[in-house]
Amino acid sequence: MFSHPDHAEFLPLDQLPVLVEKLMQRGYQCLGPTVENGAIVMRELQSPDGLPRGLQAEQSPGRYQLTRDPHNRYFAWANGPQAIKPQVFAARESLWQVRRDASGTLAFEAVVPDVPPQALIGVRACDLAALALQDAHFLRDGRRDAQYAQRRERLFLVAVQCAEPGATCFCASTGDGPTPTAGYDIALAELADGFVVVAGSEQGATVLQTLKLSPATPQQIDASRQQGLAAAAAQTRSLPGHNLRDVLMNNLEHPRWDEVAARCLACGNCTAVCPTCFCHAEVDEPALTGQSSEHVRQWDSCFGEAHGHLHGFNVRPDIRSRYRQWLTHKLATWHDQYGRSGCVGCGRCIVWCPVGIDLTEEVAALTAEIQP
Ligand code: SF4
Ligand code: SF4
Repeated sequence: MFSHPDHAEFLPLDQLPVLVEKLMQRGYQCLGPTVENGAIVMRELQSPDGLPRGLQAEQSPGRYQLTRDPHNRYFAWANGPQAIKPQVFAARESLWQVRRDASGTLAFEAVVPDVPPQALIGVRACDLAALALQDAHFLRDGRRDAQYAQRRERLFLVAVQCAEPGATCFCASTGDGPTPTAGYDIALAELADGFVVVAGSEQGATVLQTLKLSPATPQQIDASRQQGLAAAAAQTRSLPGHNLRDVLMNNLEHPRWDEVAARCLACGNCTAVCPTCFCHAEVDEPALTGQSSEHVRQWDSCFGEAHGHLHGFNVRPDIRSRYRQWLTHKLATWHDQYGRSGCVGCGRCIVWCPVGIDLTEEVAALTAEIQP
């Protein structure tokens, strides 16, 4: 349940646009679910009542299809190809630039993005768990990333409980959903006539004070709790609850790696949509004049050939070793780095894989005859 269920309030359905309006009035650029190219993505809302209603997303391996929600809810869709990652870890950005002045002296300058405060409406529990992992990577002691920190500090998060998980979701088994428990400013649980709402931060509480809310009734709180339990129970996929580090690292020669490699296209879709993947490449882009150069960071993928290049040879020359690198990093060695698995159970890598490779199936096959 929400982190402060005792302080839950109730927001009538017709007041949701007012919440968006209040955020806009406070200077936030509001991003919410928007249909683009047949999928739900986070885009800037042009008006407070710009949130779409009645959308659902059918998801299965290699397939994503928007349909109509017969109950016309705001948040009946489970998730889209994006999480919060693009808002904090830009797909491509300049980190620093250097210019040569008239005397030939080089001047280096960090590039820190000038982004407006952003409010994201409709983020999910798995997205918040993934953001906590990105924070652990980009904001760790002594290695604080200036560009990430700038965006992160300006983020206001309106989370929503998932009532209708996709068929590919398995956040209940990873302990990351479907009800948000931490990391949000405001959390909503959508019921037929409105939202059970709680604040998760001082900023969230301040915004809620500007709305016409009434205390949530015990029945409303219980309905939201039951909705979360039902959503968890509806999930049919799962990962084992225990740490897979040893079982995976002790089976690096398992024949299943060859089988999955025969299907995998090494396209990198799974890493692009994964909300916890943080690999990136850094390249220098000198101007043709020779007077300046930009140092650019862009998303990279361990499925790319260049990712494994090291001093004249490639440590991951084939798809087998790249898929194995991805899965063992995500589910095994991530424990060494960040104290937990790197998978939050969002299912995106399953949906957006063009050949429908399902990591829960791969893990089941890899661990079938092996005790943890
Ligand atoms: S590995 Fe797949 S299911 Fe897990 S967080 Fe990444 S995209 Fe989501
Ligand atoms: S597992 Fe699927 S999405 Fe990932 S690289 Fe292979 S083919 Fe592409």
